[in-house]
Amino acid sequence: MSETSPKLRAELEGIPTYKPGKPAAAGGPVAYKLSSNENPYPPLPGVMETVAAAAGSFNRYPDMACTALMSELADRFAVPLTHLATGTGSVGVAQQLVQATSGPGDEVIYAWRSFEAYPIITQISGATSVRVPLTPGDVHDLDAMADAVTDRTRLIFVCNPNNPTGTVVRRAELERFLDRVPSDVLVVLDEAYREFMRDPEVPDGVEIYRRRPNVCVLRTFSKAYGLAGLRVGFAIAHEPVAAALRKTAVPFGVSQLAQDAAVASLRAEDALLGRVGSLVCERNRVVETLRGQGWTVPETQANFVWLRLGERTVDFAAVCEQAGVVVRPFPGEGVRVTIGETEANDIFLKTTEGFRKEL
Ligand SMILES: *Cc1c(COP(=O)(O)O)cnc(C)c1O
Repeated sequence: MSETSPKLRAELEGIPTYKPGKPAAAGGPVAYKLSSNENPYPPLPGVMETVAAAAGSFNRYPDMACTALMSELADRFAVPLTHLATGTGSVGVAQQLVQATSGPGDEVIYAWRSFEAYPIITQISGATSVRVPLTPGDVHDLDAMADAVTDRTRLIFVCNPNNPTGTVVRRAELERFLDRVPSDVLVVLDEAYREFMRDPEVPDGVEIYRRRPNVCVLRTFSKAYGLAGLRVGFAIAHEPVAAALRKTAVPFGVSQLAQDAAVASLRAEDALLGRVGSLVCERNRVVETLRGQGWTVPETQANFVWLRLGERTVDFAAVCEQAGVVVRPFPGEGVRVTIGETEANDIFLKTTEGFRKEL
């Protein structure tokens, strides 16, 4: 018997691991999880009932075509069914987009720092990451991203608003960028936080997709709709791209619980978007308070704020945890803090006030 282990693809070596937000400590004094950009509200009662009913038949495979959800989405966004694809969260769909477009020798461009899944899914495909630094104001540098396009570029992610900085790109600069990108390069507008945006100058990716065949929009039920644990997201894209997504999907990836919950959530949108409105008010309060304390906070249109703390990042995260809120540190860079329950936000703001005095 040979002692060698099974041969694995070389691309997997050195792959960064996805770091989930740390859970709130069990048994601590009070502990709030502000580390994963989740929705702090518990599931809506009606959505809960729908999921409970669906749970009665989880001995069966789900509807592989996600028929009910697809038709609800087609109506909701006024797009043809053939332009839709669902997946196991929008991260799952993003991975399929990279698989469908990019392999060894191909390049995937994205801003950095941005969503930590991009380098992982690019490397799994064997493609090369091209990271374009954010501007000093922590915004996508779209001119530099367009300059980075080569004849090997296959896909460009534009995360709007950007995770973890919360910053946005606006209509005029995005259109100018898209005019410069060759039409055979796929541009993915990752709009996971779309519902939290209040800046009228930020375009709706779905309107842009209608006019541009190389644009694909990613949306998720994980954030505003509060279904993070159920794993369902979707893409809106023109025919060849949407068809490629349906080809690369893991069969039965989206559970029936997730499908039914997503449909129920779309139908309960008024209640859910009311909660989003409250979170946006809290976000504005948090940002104003931080600025009043003397912090520089980039303008955020998402359900989180970014504090560029550099070398103090890890210390600050530890102080927060002692105070009862778990945040998301990016060592050496900064912390991303999700807008949560009012009490959690208050603890965070008290902590920033104390920390500020020590700086
Ligand atoms: C949270 C998030 C997603 C969505 O994740 P799901 O897989 O849908 O839960 C996608 N993109 C960004 C930038 C995110 O922050």
